[in-house]
Amino acid sequence: MRRIPRPLPRHLSNSCLDDQHSMETIHTVAWMKQVASEARLRERITGLVPTMGALHEGHFSLVREAKRRCSPVVASIFVNPKQFGPSEDFQRYPRQLEKDRAALEDLGVDYLFAPSTEEMYPKCFRSSVVVEGLSDGLEGRTRPGHFRGVATVVLKLFQIVQPRLAFFGRKDAQQVRIIQQMVRDFSLDAEIVVCPIAREADGLAISSRNVYLSAAERKAATALYRSLDAMRKEVGRGERNTARLLEVLREVIRAEAGVRLDYAEIVDADTLEAVPSLRKSCYALLAAFVGGTRLIDNAPIEEEGQSFNVTL
Ligand code: AMP
Repeated sequence: MRRIPRPLPRHLSNSCLDDQHSMETIHTVAWMKQVASEARLRERITGLVPTMGALHEGHFSLVREAKRRCSPVVASIFVNPKQFGPSEDFQRYPRQLEKDRAALEDLGVDYLFAPSTEEMYPKCFRSSVVVEGLSDGLEGRTRPGHFRGVATVVLKLFQIVQPRLAFFGRKDAQQVRIIQQMVRDFSLDAEIVVCPIAREADGLAISSRNVYLSAAERKAATALYRSLDAMRKEVGRGERNTARLLEVLREVIRAEAGVRLDYAEIVDADTLEAVPSLRKSCYALLAAFVGGTRLIDNAPIEEEGQSFNVTL
């Protein structure tokens, strides 16, 4: 019996050199692994942009950076059930695969990896990854098990796609820190590239969850950015005491009816533990409920000479 030859992965065929770019959508782990292995064999620099879809400018900025540095570029879309708590928005999380597919193709992505839940987590699936010490505070306190789900899916994606570079947003600063630790602990080959937060014109960090906001909530949601900006100004005036800086931040949130602070902390960038006064490298992070929608934002605070610099 004659075997039907498998098509050559598109980045290895002439088509990737053509002007007419076409993206291949892959739904199975086996085929994605095959494509990734061949790319690695040919010493290509595979870039991975992991997402949960409902793509926006934040995701696109990651893809653009990946395109600048890698070929082929793989974007993944997988709404990972393991990182949602039982009372969270897994069921209603926005899903728009066709629209996302078109946008990724326009950006020149080579492969979209969009597996089903069963493909990623067959019934026999039993393992998980826990990055001790970094996963329980901040987001982890309100969302127990969240980072176990994130680390598990990211390790699995790295195994399947074998990226040399993987692109993440600083929007999820704790997630970035946890993934960097996992990469170090397990001697993974992927290098983590951290991209800045994409914001709306009024400062609101762009998020797939912003679609849940009513017009009034959308306006109120800028309080997160404004609170960090107020803190930034206070740092500029020379304040180093984190309790006082957090008070300035909380004051802005309190003034906005309809926004309820979940947490606000200033932590060491490495340990993610709260610090009493600013040090070399730290982060101000906060989460707040705007109506029923939970939003997060953050700002790194870096020592530069005699002063501190806050990046928004
Ligand atoms: P998500 O689809 O929410 O899991 O996000 C996928 C990736 O996009 C993560 O690395 C996020 O940190 C990143 N991301 C989400 N929103 C933004 C944003 N506003 N700016 C930069 N990166 C973002």
